[in-house]
Amino acid sequence: MPSAGRRTPSAAQGKFVYLFGRKTDGNGTMKPLLGGKGANLAEMCRIGLPVPPGFTIPTEVCTYYYANKRTYPPSLRGQMEAGVASIEAQTGKKFGDLKNPLLVSVRSGARDSMPGMMDTILNLGLNNQTVEALAAKTGNPRFAWDCYRRFVQMYGDVVLGVQKRPDEDHEPFETVIERLKHERYHQAVEDTKLTVADLKELVARFKKLVKERAGKQFPDSPWDQLLGAVGAVFGSWMNDRAIVYRRKYNIPTEWGTAVNVQAMVYGNTGDNSGSGVAFTRNPANGTKEFYGEFLINAQGEDVVAGVRTPEPVAELKKQMPKAYAELERIRQTLEKHFKDVQDFEFTIEDGVVYMLQTRNGKRTAMAALKFSVDMYKEKLIDWKTAVMRNPADQLEQLLAPVFDATEVAKAKAIATGLPAGPGAASGQIYLNAERAVAAAEKGEKVLLVRVETSPEDLRGMIAAEGILTARGGVSSHAALVARQMGKVCVCGAAAVEVDYQARTVRVEGKTFKEGDWMSIDGTAGKVYAGQVKTAPSEIVAGLIDGNKAAQQTEKFKNFQQLMKWCSDATRMVVRTNADTPEQAENAVAFGAVGIGLTRTEHMFFEGDRIDAMREMILAETEEARKAALAKLLPYQREDFAGIFRALKGYPATIRFLDPPLHEFLPHTKEQQEELAKKIGVPAGRIQQRVSQLHEFNPMLGFRGCRLGIGYPEISAMQARAVFEAAAEVQKAGIKVRPEVMIPLVGFKKELDLQIEVVHRAAREVEKEQGVKLNYMVGTMIEVPRGALTADEIALSAEFFSFGTNDLTQTGLGMSRDDSGSFLPQYQELEIVTKNPFATIDATGVGQLVDIAVKKGRSTRPNIKLGICGEHGGDPASIQFFEKVGLDYVSCSPYRVPVARLAAAQAALQTRVED
Ligand code: ADP
Ligand code: MG
Ligand code: MG
Repeated sequence: MPSAGRRTPSAAQGKFVYLFGRKTDGNGTMKPLLGGKGANLAEMCRIGLPVPPGFTIPTEVCTYYYANKRTYPPSLRGQMEAGVASIEAQTGKKFGDLKNPLLVSVRSGARDSMPGMMDTILNLGLNNQTVEALAAKTGNPRFAWDCYRRFVQMYGDVVLGVQKRPDEDHEPFETVIERLKHERYHQAVEDTKLTVADLKELVARFKKLVKERAGKQFPDSPWDQLLGAVGAVFGSWMNDRAIVYRRKYNIPTEWGTAVNVQAMVYGNTGDNSGSGVAFTRNPANGTKEFYGEFLINAQGEDVVAGVRTPEPVAELKKQMPKAYAELERIRQTLEKHFKDVQDFEFTIEDGVVYMLQTRNGKRTAMAALKFSVDMYKEKLIDWKTAVMRNPADQLEQLLAPVFDATEVAKAKAIATGLPAGPGAASGQIYLNAERAVAAAEKGEKVLLVRVETSPEDLRGMIAAEGILTARGGVSSHAALVARQMGKVCVCGAAAVEVDYQARTVRVEGKTFKEGDWMSIDGTAGKVYAGQVKTAPSEIVAGLIDGNKAAQQTEKFKNFQQLMKWCSDATRMVVRTNADTPEQAENAVAFGAVGIGLTRTEHMFFEGDRIDAMREMILAETEEARKAALAKLLPYQREDFAGIFRALKGYPATIRFLDPPLHEFLPHTKEQQEELAKKIGVPAGRIQQRVSQLHEFNPMLGFRGCRLGIGYPEISAMQARAVFEAAAEVQKAGIKVRPEVMIPLVGFKKELDLQIEVVHRAAREVEKEQGVKLNYMVGTMIEVPRGALTADEIALSAEFFSFGTNDLTQTGLGMSRDDSGSFLPQYQELEIVTKNPFATIDATGVGQLVDIAVKKGRSTRPNIKLGICGEHGGDPASIQFFEKVGLDYVSCSPYRVPVARLAAAQAALQTRVED
């Protein structure tokens, strides 16, 4: 969306006001234009929900505003006047009227919700005359002045910029309120206790504050107020908070925000009114229950601001049964219509319910899973939608440990709060973000404990195992972050007294200092003293340990259902990177259908093997080398046999020796002397060999197939170990399908030389053992030349596996181990949007993959294609691999479910796009 295009005459003469109410111009699909809030307000009107009338100024105007030195399209004012007239006609009130004044809210709303990032102004249209009119009309002067006080405060803050200075601890308006309360009541009373006289005094003092700080008079004309507020909402698109948020969530600046102007409804007229936030189901654990909170006699802002502690929505059933029944009806309607869990805002004015916002609710992985399976059962969604509803990058949360049931039974809960983020977390407590981060960097497990959290605490929240707050409910910052980041979280545990000064936490008479251990159960909302032992998640227990009780849990069953759907949807299969039988077994339990990468060198490090390996490297003749290799052979054979058995017939890709040899040698003088004694070689000889093997760029040095070409006897030993193991396991009646993989090939000839060695070993073993072996030989594609000459290489290779770690390093000319010094800045400057070692650089390195796929298939149409780099477990990369048409991805065992889900989603999505 080039901004220059917005300056064209058609944009200047376009439609800039979209009505909603009795007549509605927009609908729910128009989020790019109307923003999420505006589009869904329109959609709610269309399905007959009670929404106060209003209009939306589209994001186009925001784009125009920034492209034209912060001015509006000329026809905007006229269209807004028509919009206001339409609201007046529907409400019977008039903007600026001295009998029955219309007040409006002016609200921001971008395409994706950016909670708390931009600004909203309520009760706009009040001045010294209209406030009296409102008081007279409603017979409720307290209410009228409460509105006015709120309006001056919000407008002063948002539009006129009267905000906390760096040297101030509190918002200046709040300071004025506190001072007045103390002057008149000598203590902190609740806002609802303030009288008309108090509120009048506050308005006067607020205006004085505005005059002092902003240097201008508070505007009295409703139209001046309205235009100022619209400008402020557009302006807030570029405030620091919004910019930081957009960066974090990859929201393009070009999107812009829409502005919603809407008739006010009043939750602050008295005890038969109120405001609240609710979810159609529980977004923390997924339970199908009405979930939310409200405040009596309050406007919407109060609920999130934490000035008073809200009550759970269930309480409303007692206090306002009619309104509750209406909300219950709305809850059903919303789900039936949007077919997803909704997070909505409502206000009750004198017993009548109004809807102010709805959007798809953010949810934890546990809730997402339960929502998707339940909604499928309720026939709200089909199974493919259910698969798409589970965010792949969150799925790992479900595998995180929970508290051990027997340990929990023994432990005594010292406090309870809202279970806002499921899971178990034990940690040493810290009361501020900075110290939490520092402790985590030292390797401590950290529990962040705060009265409540705010965006400044984000770094600490990320570093912590879990978050515990003393105040705040469903819509508090901590709960929000827990849902979004999948943090273990208990919030609003009122019994927890936090003393920031003393850096202590008191609960039930017990005092905890910073560094002391506490534990929280974010599934049950319980807080424990000390460290409570954790147990594997029900899913891990059920799949890996075969625990029967775990298999009976709903979580386990839902997970299995999801995985079954994934199998039905997927085109690519998932293999695992495993070096031991146990890892292979676990991966198979998670649904892997083979090994995509076994790194044989890991087998050389264990126990005595390293000595034989070192002997081999130090050998001066081929004879001596072969003798050392002969010692290694039985170890390798045993390892391979174990892996083959664990795989129960699934294929295993085995990569031959890859790292540079110096990695196996001792580097300190003491270690070298010790080794010298052990294997009877002079220490000087070892030192000499180490310096001989020293390389300036080991990553690009004597490694990969270059080793096997230099010392064919190494490859011969490895091949023999593979085939002897295969013969052994095959004889035991288990199918074995080894896939021998030669690393770092850039030239066909390299591969040919190694293939010859492998085939020779296979023929020998077949003859010796009297068996027929079923194996393949292929290569990794991990240097650009290999990718570019893949057609030649495929003449010899029966399969390719993309080693995307090395392919990224060599493709970008960027060493992964050294990238730490510049990559963060690259990301900040948006030279790269994501870390290319975590998510494949699709436009650059991805081309190499794409070329190799096409060229490989051109000479060997049925060539098997996979990927075994770190990227094999990354959902965004998996989407790319689906597009280029690989046969499988391979990732670490515990990542297998994530990869299965991502592969299924990629397949479903690709089908939609076709
Ligand atoms: P945010 O995006 O931060 O939630 P909103 O625009 O939704 O900001 O508004 C902030 C608060 O003001 C919400 O609680 C909302 O319900 C309330 N609000 C907005 N418009 C109105 C209105 N017309 N009448 C009453 N309350 C409103
Ligand atoms: Mg809102
Ligand atoms: Mg490699």
